[in-house]
Amino acid sequence: MAEANTILEVTAASCRFDVSAPALSRLFSAEPRRILRAVENVSFSVQRGTTFSIVGESGCGKSTLARMVVGLQRPTQGLLDFKDIRRADGSFGPPRVQMIFQDPYASLNPRWRVGDIIAEPIRELKLRKDESETATRVGDLLEIVGLSRADASRFPHEFSGGQRQRISIARALATEADFLVCDEPTSALDVSVQAQILNLMVRLQKEFGLTYLFISHNLSVVRHMSDHLAIMYLGRFVESGPAEDVFGRPRHPYTRLLLDTIPDVEKPNRERRPMSGEVPSPIAPPPGCAFHPRCVQAVERCRTEAPALRREGELEIACHLA
Ligand code: SF4
Repeated sequence: MAEANTILEVTAASCRFDVSAPALSRLFSAEPRRILRAVENVSFSVQRGTTFSIVGESGCGKSTLARMVVGLQRPTQGLLDFKDIRRADGSFGPPRVQMIFQDPYASLNPRWRVGDIIAEPIRELKLRKDESETATRVGDLLEIVGLSRADASRFPHEFSGGQRQRISIARALATEADFLVCDEPTSALDVSVQAQILNLMVRLQKEFGLTYLFISHNLSVVRHMSDHLAIMYLGRFVESGPAEDVFGRPRHPYTRLLLDTIPDVEKPNRERRPMSGEVPSPIAPPPGCAFHPRCVQAVERCRTEAPALRREGELEIACHLA
């Protein structure tokens, strides 16, 4: 159920792709239709000013879900509902949503100067009166993300990966966004640079009251910035809840497996289990619990009966044994 501070409510959202061969060749080969279930019956709500993180391995559907939230992908079923919000300037309406992509170089036009990249949404949305105000705003945004005003006249290739991601963030802020969908924003960066970008994002969230939907394959990346965490496997949430509960007392075997792969600075000699097995194809998921071929706790029931997502307090979990 939505709370008073809810900014996004997603209800039973699914996204399926028909990846069948053309009808004529299916007719000759007697091949059935092939449906890729990228996202299956996912529900969650995001509270304003918080970070909701979705974590899972490559191919689990998290990026499709992110694209659905920003409107780049239509859901096959279900509802994604952004609630109207009151902003600091007194305006009232649906939140402005922006996406920050994994590869900052591919998402910046290499032929444009950084100043024009950041100024484009300001001009398009007519957020400033004239070019002089726009230039001032661009300079302010560059400083807000830790770059200098003079960087406006340079091109994206003159910057490092971390600096380019700062430019992407400045461009997102230029739209006066309220809600940022961050799809693996640090996965292309070195670990030390990752930490700098994450710290910047935490600071900006506090300063501007931003809401983040953060997508990652790496639990250690989201550990210190998530308020709420959902673990996704083959298109479905298998565990979700307040981040401190999921990290502090993981219940689902898949969450524990993901956590086991993270190095722990406090216990450097802790035995770590490597991630075993491959994520099965979302076109032909295993029967029963989709995780059973990789689960060390699987019992006979897991092979035939899919566990329903059940609620326990603020936690939701889909496992017969947890
Ligand atoms: S339902 Fe069974 S296979 Fe699935 S996670 Fe739980 S124990 Fe493992």
